[in-house]
Amino acid sequence: GEDSRLQAISEAIRVVPHFPKQGIMFQDITTLLLDPKAFKDTVDIFVDHYRDMDISVVAGVEARGFIFGSSIAIGIGAKFVPLCKPGKLPGEVISEKYVLEYGTDCLEMHVGAVEPCERVIIMDDLVATGGTLSAAIRLLERAGAEVVECACVIGLSDLKVRRKLNGKPLYILLEPR
Ligand code: AMP
Repeated sequence: GEDSRLQAISEAIRVVPHFPKQGIMFQDITTLLLDPKAFKDTVDIFVDHYRDMDISVVAGVEARGFIFGSSIAIGIGAKFVPLCKPGKLPGEVISEKYVLEYGTDCLEMHVGAVEPCERVIIMDDLVATGGTLSAAIRLLERAGAEVVECACVIGLSDLKVRRKLNGKPLYILLEPR
């Protein structure tokens, strides 16, 4: 069942204390990618969830959102749109800044990648404060898309995040304690 699959997915993710800096418990999904069954089960759970929701776009956050997002896009027959760090996309872009603990970051998307009123899900590996996904929501909504849901393998958050995601539902597989 799904519970035993989630257990195996959870066990395949390596936790690295104090990376990239002191105090961070880094959730390393590269070890999940080394387990073909757990990786496929992860993608399948999202594909089963989104299959009949009339989603035409999966937008993935650089870089680990690309890995899951592109696989899910293929599985549900949707297009995949990369949301990139500044300076990576060669065409005309729209960009959205967001605040980090120290400083700011930015996500960019190609103009024309998403048509107005398309139904989109936004994918990343992990949500912590929700700042990254909130910026992604703003970017897609500025392009006229309908953001149906945000999806992550791991949620480190409590309910505080849901407010930061502007009322958009958040679909999370694992919530490590
Ligand atoms: P946030 O914007 O605070 O929700 O942070 C989420 C983004 O930062 C995602 O793109 C994650 O890949 C990355 N991230 C934040 N905290 C962690 C963590 N503990 N382990 C792995 N990635 C993280």
